[in-house]
Amino acid sequence: MSDTVRVRFAPSPTGHLHIGGARTALFNWLFARHINGAFILRIEDTDTSRSTDDYIEAIIEGMKWLNLDWNEGPFRQTDRFDVYRKYVERLLAEGKAYRCYCTAEELEHRRQQALADGKTPKYDGRCRSITEPMPNKSFAVRFKMPQEGTTVLNDMIKGAIVFENNLLDDMIILRSDGTPTYNFVVVVDDIDMKITHIIRGDDHVNNTPKQIHIYKAFGWEPPQFGHLPMILGSDKSRLSKRHGATSVMAYKDMGYLPDALVNYLVRLGWSYGDQEIFTRQELINYFSFDNVGSSAAVFNPEKLLWLNSQYIMNTPAEALAEMVLPFVVKAGFIREGQYPNMQWLSKAVLTLRERSRTLVELAQSMKYYLVDEVEIDQKAGDKFLKPEGIALLADLKDALTGIEDFTVPEIMPPASVMPRCNGQLMASANA
Ligand code: GLU
Repeated sequence: MSDTVRVRFAPSPTGHLHIGGARTALFNWLFARHINGAFILRIEDTDTSRSTDDYIEAIIEGMKWLNLDWNEGPFRQTDRFDVYRKYVERLLAEGKAYRCYCTAEELEHRRQQALADGKTPKYDGRCRSITEPMPNKSFAVRFKMPQEGTTVLNDMIKGAIVFENNLLDDMIILRSDGTPTYNFVVVVDDIDMKITHIIRGDDHVNNTPKQIHIYKAFGWEPPQFGHLPMILGSDKSRLSKRHGATSVMAYKDMGYLPDALVNYLVRLGWSYGDQEIFTRQELINYFSFDNVGSSAAVFNPEKLLWLNSQYIMNTPAEALAEMVLPFVVKAGFIREGQYPNMQWLSKAVLTLRERSRTLVELAQSMKYYLVDEVEIDQKAGDKFLKPEGIALLADLKDALTGIEDFTVPEIMPPASVMPRCNGQLMASANA
């Protein structure tokens, strides 16, 4: 394994694995696999009021379903609070951070005042000058943000972005309850875990100059950054539940194949000529940040559905039978616990897979093979069940009922019957 490239996916467990997060994970994973580097999974759960164990499990379940395996982790930031406090102490000792005794009420009052004066609220640095700790007073720790000059982010995807340092706040790195904050721990972890490239959503672009200053304060070389453009809905606003399902596992439930979703996600921002369908190995071989675009991608559910139908059509029947089985059981066409004949199921799948866009559709279309009582759609019945057709079906039923060995030669009608069948069919088709 290359010891040069180490990337990570660092979700906050405040929700399920969603489309945007999965695409970030996928790009990191592909980059690592392409270059034979390491892919690390880190759970960023320092916001203990919003993080839950259920969401951690859900994220891991989503990663597993998409087949995005990791080399190290999952690490949890809440297991590492001692490490972060040690680094906070170091910045305090070096005079690069300071204790802030302002209360939440005071800060809020000053914020409102700034807004009323038409200014952008920003901490005024009044506790910077307090050098001796004040006993028995609760405090947060703030980072002394440089206020002069500019910070340049040379982004792998977006190019150079320049930030004015005087717009940056003396941000809190340790809350008064003793918990550290995201912009601080992310730097400590990325250094501790020897991350070489930080690939994440561009909602973090404005955090990056703050993080760069923390690296500098410790004398660390920042990793390379690459910020992926947002994924938008059809109305060009940020993709959200309004545009349909955004959770990865919802696509599993709707009968999407993980490889189809991966193939779709990779094309949200990455391209390789005009090719649309890729095997996993092709993705690993071809993936590069040179082909990641800098403009936002639009999520198109119809295209995803089309890709899914292509994957269903091209999946070997045996594998597809395994995949569709839970959906057939869920639909109630096979009883739970009943052992299905997989060979038979594969044959059924083979006759239907070209017409099914999802596993749910495939399972539904298998109904007539599986249930004894067939319901006839009134409209279709009125249209097609004409007397001559009914007579023909009755003949067919009689002929089939007698067959013991249900094989092709047995099912084939005797030659004497064939012309009649054909004639009848022709007649009703012409009618
Ligand atoms: N935990 C952050 C999030 O879920 C990601 C932070 C990062 O990648 O630096 O948005």
